[in-house]
Order: sequence, then C-alpha cells, then structure tokens
Amino acid sequence: MSKVKYYYDPDTLSYRKIEAKKSRRYRNISLFILGAFIFGFLGLIFLLNTNLINTPKELSLQREVKNYELQFELLNKKMGQIEQVLANIEERDNNIYRLYFEANPIPEEQRRAGFGGVNRYNALEGFNNSEMIIATSKRLDIIQKQMVIQSKSLDEITKLAGEKEKLLASIPAIQPITNKELTRMASGYGWRSDPFTKARKMHWGMDFTAPKGTPVYASGDGKISRADNNSSGYGKHIRIEHGYGYMSLYGHLSQYNVKPGQKVKRGDLIGFVGSTGRSQAPHLHYEVWKDDQRTNPINFYYGSLTAEEFENMLKLANQENQSLD
Ligand SMILES: [Zn+2]
Repeated sequence: MSKVKYYYDPDTLSYRKIEAKKSRRYRNISLFILGAFIFGFLGLIFLLNTNLINTPKELSLQREVKNYELQFELLNKKMGQIEQVLANIEERDNNIYRLYFEANPIPEEQRRAGFGGVNRYNALEGFNNSEMIIATSKRLDIIQKQMVIQSKSLDEITKLAGEKEKLLASIPAIQPITNKELTRMASGYGWRSDPFTKARKMHWGMDFTAPKGTPVYASGDGKISRADNNSSGYGKHIRIEHGYGYMSLYGHLSQYNVKPGQKVKRGDLIGFVGSTGRSQAPHLHYEVWKDDQRTNPINFYYGSLTAEEFENMLKLANQENQSLD
C-alpha cells in the first residue's frame, strides 16, 4: 500500500489527496527502459567500432585468413624444395648432358627470368596479404618457366643423342694405317725440325713410316672432298669431310682408291702410302681438322687404343725428332 500524499488547494482552502495517475507511471517506466536500451545499444556500437569485440562471423573469417597464411607458408616451403631439385637438374643439364652433346649451356639469367609487363600482378594488389600473394605468384611463375626451359633442353638433348651415334661414327677416331706395334709413328704434332731446311717448324700432323703401297684407311665416316695433287707439299692427297666440323687429310700417297664425292665408312681402304710431294721417305702424313683449325690427331685415337697403348703412343709422338713432312 503506497503512502497517501496530500496537497493544499488555495481555492477550496482544504487539503486534497494527490492521486498519481497510473498512465503516467507506466510512461515513466517505459521511458526508463527505452533510455536503457538506447544507451546500451550506443555502447555496443562503440565497442564494436573499437574492435574490442568481434562478431562470431568475424572471428571465423579471421581464423580462415590465418589458415590461408599458414597454407601459403607451407606452399612456399614446398616451392623451395622444388627449386632445389630443379637447380640440381639444371646443373646436371648444363655441366653434363649439354656438355656431353656439345650444346651450349643455358645461362642462369635465361633460366630464371621472370615475366615482364607491369600489369601481370595488378589484380592481386590492394589487399592486406597482397605482398605475400604476389611474391608467391612470381616464384611459381619462375618455377614454371624453369620447367619449360628445362623440358626444351631435354628435347634438344634427345635429338642430339640420336645424332650422337652418327657423330661418333664420323669423328676421325682410328689410326689411318695398321699400326698394332706402334713402331710406325715417326713424328707427332708439334714443333719439329724440317727435314729439308733443318729449321724448327710446326708440324701440323702425324707421320707414320710405312713401305710404299701400304694401305691407308678412312679414320671416320664421311665423304671424299678431294683426291688430287693440287695442294702444295702434300703431294697426292685425300681429304675426307666427316661433318660436325671434322676433316681428315692423308698426304704423300702413291695411289688413290677413292674418287671425290664418294661416301666412305670408317676403316675403308682409300689409298696407298707413297712419297709424293714434299716428302723425304715413304710415309703417311695425317692431319685432323676441326672447324678449319688443325688439331693434334693423337687426341682422337681414344676409341681404338688401350690406356697403355695410348700412353706409349703419346711418348713416341712427343719425341723431339725430325718430321718426314
Ligand atoms: Zn708429316
């Protein structure tokens, strides 16, 4: 029971009871609740704006982003491993395969070149993780390019390997006359005294002493380019073009067994030892040319000699004696 309040009415000069209207009381209560609500709501907005509280959806998105970051990190780790394996393959490619098949190594810059163009990664810009995503994309692009280049290189090597057999048959890799005992080599490649003037002079080939008429053999597959007496000094001589930049020359012959344009196989009888041209005694003067340069023929006998025989021949060839020219 609430306390009854009175007030003095000057008109009637009496005290009258104050009656609080029910509707007013309810209005007061409603106002209070509404105020509380508005106040609470504003407080909530304030808290949300200051990031002190996250909604469940935001929390789950944050977890997702964290998970993506972790996945990117793992991907980068895996890319690191792939890069290592690729680098190893590239090294073998350059230093073994390409070298073996005489192809030029592919320069590092060419293998690792990124992609030009400024717009390539534009779509990835403007996000919180843009830097990480662009770096990863670039890394992946370079790996992809490395793979393409490596794959092309292997294609090239496959092709070269197919030709290698032909190349190996073409290289002038045996001695041009039967020389089992290795007593027939008179003079090697290098500085020797000239048999006519006795002055020291470069001897550009190997001399094999042999009686006139001893068979001379093609040292590799090829085509006879010359068989004539029109080159000063060599007398009757034969030249074989082997392809791949190789040419072999057989000088001071007494007779030919082949004609220009004829194809020959390694070991075919092409002519006979003589002493035509600038020659002191019957012998075969033999030269090997690579890319228009004369080279030491001894470097080409690897196919037909044992290590010991080669050693022995090297000794003989290096003797400082007089060449037969
Ligand atoms: Zn000679």
